[in-house]
Amino acid sequence: MVIVVGGGWAGCAAAFAAALAGAKVTLLEKTDMLLGTGLVGGIMRNNGRFTALEEIWAMGGGDFIRHIEGVARHRWLDFPGHRHATLYDVTRIEPVIRRALLDMGIEVQFQSRVVGVLKKGPRLTEIYTARGKNHPGDVFIDTTGSAGPIKNCTRHGSGCAMCILRCPTFGPRVSLTEKAGIEEIRAGDGFPHFEAMSGSCKLDKKSLATWLVDRLEREGKVVLPLPAHIQKHELLSRKACQQYNLEEFARNLILLDTGHAKLMTPYFPLEVLRKLDGFQEARYADPYSGGRGNSVRFMAIAPCDDALQVHGVENLFCAGEKTGLLVGHTEAIATGFLAGHNAARYMVGLKPLVLPVDLAVGDIIAFMHREMKTPDGLTKKYTFSGSVYFQRMQERGLYTTDVQVVRERVEKLGLRNIYRQKLLKNPRF
Ligand SMILES: Cc1cc2nc3c(=O)[nH]c(=O)nc-3n(C[C@H](O)[C@H](O)[C@H](O)COP(=O)(O)OP(=O)(O)OC[C@H]3O[C@@H](n4cnc5c(N)ncnc54)[C@H](O)[C@@H]3O)c2cc1C
Repeated sequence: MVIVVGGGWAGCAAAFAAALAGAKVTLLEKTDMLLGTGLVGGIMRNNGRFTALEEIWAMGGGDFIRHIEGVARHRWLDFPGHRHATLYDVTRIEPVIRRALLDMGIEVQFQSRVVGVLKKGPRLTEIYTARGKNHPGDVFIDTTGSAGPIKNCTRHGSGCAMCILRCPTFGPRVSLTEKAGIEEIRAGDGFPHFEAMSGSCKLDKKSLATWLVDRLEREGKVVLPLPAHIQKHELLSRKACQQYNLEEFARNLILLDTGHAKLMTPYFPLEVLRKLDGFQEARYADPYSGGRGNSVRFMAIAPCDDALQVHGVENLFCAGEKTGLLVGHTEAIATGFLAGHNAARYMVGLKPLVLPVDLAVGDIIAFMHREMKTPDGLTKKYTFSGSVYFQRMQERGLYTTDVQVVRERVEKLGLRNIYRQKLLKNPRF
């Protein structure tokens, strides 16, 4: 039995991959919905994320990705600094992924916040939830993310911004790795400052002028030059998503149509925003206090190797933001697939897979872990879509939008459909 804790993109992909390999899987999520911060994101395939997603597809993840593409609102969209993005509809994606996991036979339990573990030597044997329910397992995956809880949003931000994770209702994030007795890499405790604010907000489209919504829905994006006195150059560097730390995002108000109107520049007080043409009646849909704050992320990271096995616990893997300073849905899905597949390999006594650095999905993990050993590396974020890692992807010739090239690379490395291999045939599982 594989137990996945945390139902964000990383947890959903990990559960899917473990089930694809033939394992019995239970996924525990503390809230009432899957996808975590993915419920308010939506941007995929921008810049190097295109290549990475195709790599996952060629390795056997196509059935999972197809569900996302099925609710795309816009494809091949260019916006400042970013090319060929797909925007999925954040208001439609959750039931689609929920159904996909259930169809794979995965048991999904909501309002199940894991708060403790039982161990035998270097192995976890069981975990238990705040409601006192125990879940024994053979192998465990920590995909609890790195956002919040409120004390962090208060310490580093401006208090609870009422984000999608809804800690006041469903309880604070609890790290499985920490509960397993492993010392995490933490923001603030002797390490350089690496926590960051989520950098986008969502406006309710119904609160915007009709002409603005029409244009947004038709074109997928709207770029509006801002008067100089309300430009926010200094705030961009605080964003978790460093790929948007570009001048264009300060000089312009950039909106993307993800179902909501995704505002790519953070912390616009409503009274300032409402002075702009088309925004006179604007209100935030996420977070509710978007004019002032946002969730604080990258608070606690699991020390792990490039196979995503957590140091010090034999049968614990991790994925998504838990693995390092890794930002994005695609990044969470890439590591989720690897962790889920490796959990199944662990169950049959196979060596865990380390993805080769000849693929972007392998290179980003190795590069990020190496960089995070340096003080400077701890101040960066790693994503296929921009900043230091996209630059490296281009320098190493890994970035391409030619799907055939990606397939051939994966084939040559012997990894075509690796995630579709049925590893578990034993009825015991
Ligand atoms: C506002 C915002 C907008 C974003 N926009 C984009 C975008 O457009 N494109 C993009 O690529 N990236 C975007 N990102 C980044 C991206 O969403 C994340 O990096 C990625 O999705 C993280 O996935 P994760 O699964 O690691 O973590 P999370 O999404 O944080 O998921 C963790 C899950 O674990 C659950 N959990 C925590 N503790 C427990 C516990 N003890 N027991 C059970 N469950 C638990 C949480 O409720 C949550 O569902 C955005 C992030 C934010 C915050």
